[in-house]
Amino acid sequence: AASAASPLLANLNDEQLAAVTLPAGHALILAGAGSGKTRVLTTRIAWLLQNGYATPGGILAVTFTNKAAKEMVARLSAMLPVNVRGMWIGTFHGLCNRLLRAHHKAAGLSQSFQILDTQDQLSAIKRLCKQHNVDDERFPPKQLAYFIANCKEEGLRPANVEAHDSDSRKKVEIYQLYEDQCQREGVVDFGELMLRSYELLRDNDPIREHYQRRFQHILVDEFQDTNKLQYAWLKQLAGNDVGGRFEARGSVIAVGDDDQSIYAFRGARVGNMTDFVREFDVQRQIKLEQNYRSYSNILDSANALISHNSRRLGKNLRTTQGAGEPVRVYEASSDLAEAQWMVDEIKQLVRNDGFERKEIAVLYRSNAQSRVIESALFNASVPYRVYGGLRFFERAEIKHALAYLRLLENPHDDTSFTRVVNFPPRGIGARSIEVLQDAARAAGCSLHDAVSAVPGKAGANLGAFVAMVDVLREQTQGLNLRGIIEQMLESTGLVEHFRTEKEGADRIENLQELVNAAESFVTQEGFGRDAVALPLDEHGTPLTQSAVSQGLDPNAPVLDEPLKPAVPGIVDADTGETLSPLAAFLTHAALEAGDNQAQAGQDAVQLMTVHASKGLEFDGVFIGGMEEGLFPHENSASDRDGLEEERRLMYVAITRARKRLYLSHSQTRMLHGQTRYNIKSRFFDELPESALKWITPKQQGFGSYAPNSGAGGAYPSGARGQFGFKSETFASPPVPVQKTAPSHGLRAGINVFHTKFGEGKVLAIEGTGDDARAQVNFPRHGTKWLALSVAKLTVVD
Ligand code: ATP
Ligand code: MG
Repeated sequence: AASAASPLLANLNDEQLAAVTLPAGHALILAGAGSGKTRVLTTRIAWLLQNGYATPGGILAVTFTNKAAKEMVARLSAMLPVNVRGMWIGTFHGLCNRLLRAHHKAAGLSQSFQILDTQDQLSAIKRLCKQHNVDDERFPPKQLAYFIANCKEEGLRPANVEAHDSDSRKKVEIYQLYEDQCQREGVVDFGELMLRSYELLRDNDPIREHYQRRFQHILVDEFQDTNKLQYAWLKQLAGNDVGGRFEARGSVIAVGDDDQSIYAFRGARVGNMTDFVREFDVQRQIKLEQNYRSYSNILDSANALISHNSRRLGKNLRTTQGAGEPVRVYEASSDLAEAQWMVDEIKQLVRNDGFERKEIAVLYRSNAQSRVIESALFNASVPYRVYGGLRFFERAEIKHALAYLRLLENPHDDTSFTRVVNFPPRGIGARSIEVLQDAARAAGCSLHDAVSAVPGKAGANLGAFVAMVDVLREQTQGLNLRGIIEQMLESTGLVEHFRTEKEGADRIENLQELVNAAESFVTQEGFGRDAVALPLDEHGTPLTQSAVSQGLDPNAPVLDEPLKPAVPGIVDADTGETLSPLAAFLTHAALEAGDNQAQAGQDAVQLMTVHASKGLEFDGVFIGGMEEGLFPHENSASDRDGLEEERRLMYVAITRARKRLYLSHSQTRMLHGQTRYNIKSRFFDELPESALKWITPKQQGFGSYAPNSGAGGAYPSGARGQFGFKSETFASPPVPVQKTAPSHGLRAGINVFHTKFGEGKVLAIEGTGDDARAQVNFPRHGTKWLALSVAKLTVVD
């Protein structure tokens, strides 16, 4: 009934409606996948605004990925004519960035500080270790990076880390040196973004007061994956500890699903949910139990799987949608065959079932799996897009270009300096750079400032490099972003350099994409444009500040931030100063590295890790590599916690699918340069047989035959005669031994007879057609690889 009042609330079920319209106060919404948690959160924001319970400035919403944040903003602006751009909706990192820019002085940073991504961080640590002669076998830089990130996530500065032995003392010492180096160079890593802004709030009463007063509504999505520091950060914004008790100012609504907690390895604490309920004295907990995303075969699979986990808070999920298609399960002989099957199925989905390519996702447990799938898609000319992996902004040529741009912003950024001082090559050797680094350390200055201290030819070359960058800085004053980048690509010789390189064409294309990325950044963020987009009313007339606030909230606290679009998050809270478009773009590049926006518009199949798929949904989902050691991953399968996290990961993967779900595993797989023989994942045993349909390989061996051409003649008569069947599918596991019909008709596990070696058991099959080989164990002759086109094997019952 209540829903009739507002179109916003139409179509919500009772529990959702209750959650959206909760009165002020804290609440926990605990619900399974696809139950509308994110939708509830977004709708609540719209509802608060529409009813004047909040102003756009009074809301802070945190989501897990940039993609999710963007989606939330897009949905909101579709629901309401408000200036969503000025709202604090983003990832933890994005919001911290914004806070630190606004209060950079209080945080001890320059406004244009640059952000180190994981790669940059590692090279900064390597550089530091070299300078201080740290033994990199005893203290591998990767481990140091992990150690530092961990300390920061625990909220620990070097002075607070307890070190009892000499190794830990050394690590703490390096942590301190690393911090000094970052501070000197004006750069901040991801962990630092979080910790620094936490400390800013903790140690600065007026700033904390300001935001506590301001953010009357704090909403957190994917709360199960927050770590200790993120939770502490939220508490700083939400209220104060008074005499050991937490007193909140505004309302905090946390939304989560304990079954989807998949970041324990990065410090996420499901325990934050119980802490939240206790510390905030949460009175309202809402469960959503209706799944709107998936057909029941998919949902039943997810439910059955996750029921094997022991530690759960307990939720049910049901759907009113029909059963839908069964979940298709495929066993491939090799990873290549698996990828080929995926491509064939994808083509069918697009051609016969009208699926859009971007509504199809291929998910995998580890990044290394994507290469084979990518090449199969590429060969079949199916457009695809990879999230994660080597992201656009992480490609080497892009990193080089960004390093030059960073040097334009900040000549003392030594990480960028080191990256490009000899790229393109200009005769500056490793030795010269060492001399320069020594000089810089001795003088306590940046590499840029130490150049004059290097003697001889090396010094002259270094001087020329510095002069080139300084001149470029002069030349690009007053140019727009596009102009700056184009000029940089020219003057530094980057483009010229790649012209002569073997794979240079691709790289030049990517550099061109960088210009496009900058262009679309300018358009999206309103940089460099005179006209600013103001919120519009239903006639398309811009609303004024007062109209907006009047229309929305007569009683809301007065906002000290005017409702002007400006550029979100990069305004100095004291002076109103904003970042240069270049600095803003560089920040964007570091924070949004995950979104390969260069190809955003294209209708392309989406490839990503299961981790990256959290919160998303697709009509069709493929999950490949369902093998022991891979999924569940070998690093996790040995202990119970690890295995349960793998199972949650699988639960996340399955629940991404709306209409079709495909699972596959392969008998052999090339991974890290080795062929591995894998058995199928234990997770298959945890899925309900009634929801599955096992598919036999169609095209093994004889490359030319057409399995679907109808007549049984498609099969080599020998094979058919031998097995006496030709159907493609089988009802359910346990898989009949003759499950694989085709060509050689062999599969791992069956017994064969060889004229010379006698009876043996097939261990693995590899390759197809004339290249097909079988690994067979003969009790009397040992294990042998046999070429099937030559060796005559017959199947023994
Ligand atoms: P996840 O746990 O995967 O993040 P979620 O709980 O956040 O899932 P949403 O993404 O919000 O779920 O919703 C899943 C799908 O169901 C979306 O397509 C959403 O639009 C749709 N949906 C949610 N509630 C309703 C409803 N009441 N009526 C129709 N569709 C709904
Ligand atoms: Mg969600």
